[in-house]
Amino acid sequence: MKMNGRFRSHHDTQAAVSKALENKQGKSGGPPNRTLPRESSSTEMKAAMANSLQFTDLLAMIPEDHPRGLYLHLPYCDRICSFCNMRREQSTGENLHAYARHLNTVFSSISHTPYVRSRPFDVLYFGGGTPSVLSNHDTSQLYPLIRKSLELAPGHEWTVESTLHNLTDEKLRIFSDCGVNRLSIGIQSFTDNGRKMLGRSGDGAWARRKFETIRGRFDGTVAIDLIYSWPGQSQEHLERDIQYIRELDIDSISFYSLMIHPGSTLSNDIDSGRLLFEKTDEYDRQMHNRFYESMLAQGYELLELTKIVKPGRDSYRYIDIRYQNCDLLPLGNGAGGRVMGHRVYHMDAERTMISPPKQEADRYNLLIGLLQFGNYHAEKIASILSGLSFEFIENILSEYESAGLLSRSDDDGARRLSPDGVFWGNNLAVDLIERVIEAQD
Ligand code: SF4
Repeated sequence: MKMNGRFRSHHDTQAAVSKALENKQGKSGGPPNRTLPRESSSTEMKAAMANSLQFTDLLAMIPEDHPRGLYLHLPYCDRICSFCNMRREQSTGENLHAYARHLNTVFSSISHTPYVRSRPFDVLYFGGGTPSVLSNHDTSQLYPLIRKSLELAPGHEWTVESTLHNLTDEKLRIFSDCGVNRLSIGIQSFTDNGRKMLGRSGDGAWARRKFETIRGRFDGTVAIDLIYSWPGQSQEHLERDIQYIRELDIDSISFYSLMIHPGSTLSNDIDSGRLLFEKTDEYDRQMHNRFYESMLAQGYELLELTKIVKPGRDSYRYIDIRYQNCDLLPLGNGAGGRVMGHRVYHMDAERTMISPPKQEADRYNLLIGLLQFGNYHAEKIASILSGLSFEFIENILSEYESAGLLSRSDDDGARRLSPDGVFWGNNLAVDLIERVIEAQD
């Protein structure tokens, strides 16, 4: 297995698997695989845009009775983080207000379609950018309209991503009144140095006070993002973040090694020599394992490769919707998802790419999902694949076990990822899937 050059997120895994499938189809002379929009080539984009099926055609259909979600994208931030190269723009009062009006129109126009009216939504996820950056006034217009435009299923999950400073008391009240029950806050670090290096607002003490205020005023799940291995981070900084998480008793934490994305402020500073920063996978592994093992000792458990939760306090159903190939209605500029099995990506307000369902890509998406949650069960893996034996999978898992990445559980016959296995989890998934694809050639 390739152990240098770590894949740090499920996006890396999906990109590597898409590439392996494209290579396979290239070898067999078959049509190129239609990848997710973020990895699409311009030829694929043109082909998808030439698809005669329109978004409105899909919304005229009635879906089967499966769980489904809605993803709303808001591509603006009022403060740009030093590590970020995502698709977002600096907000101004005008562009935000105009976008809020656009979203009001979008929800008004979809609310009467057969697709939206046919059954309730189990999961809503608002991402960005910073979806909570809208003004109190625009929030007070948009969220009640959303609530009227669609039905929420019993036990629904509705997440809004946010920064700390964008969460006003007024917005928290509107969120709660309308059914938002999960916040995902990009804290990244509770230390002064970390917040400054990563371009976050306020110092560590302010961040901790603000978090406590939000926690006291919002009844739902409050999840955070945390970054480790940032330039200048010492062991002591990491220990302080571990201590603050314990004191604040946080429900759920997504933890990432800092990625230096081309085009970000940090990347530019490193390239120009203004910032000296180099790290190895071994350094990353030590920081990861120290954090992960401390969290396990505090009673957290692994939910997926980069997420730990206090038992019963965050089910994160959104990730199931994505990996189970359920429909995820995308709305807003830059939103991608799936409608009636078709991949849909809104490039902007005028242009939408639609790609037809791809059975093989969906099967591998299911497999990527299965491998994200920390349990490797040979029978379950083999059941997703056609033409490959249980023994073939079992041999690969035994190899990972010998390398100390998996350990066998007495309870259910599954193998569990060790701390090193969690660290290398995306590489394991890519390695296993590449070997499966090769064996099926
Ligand atoms: S808030 Fe999120 S999207 Fe906006 S700049 Fe920071 S990391 Fe990027």
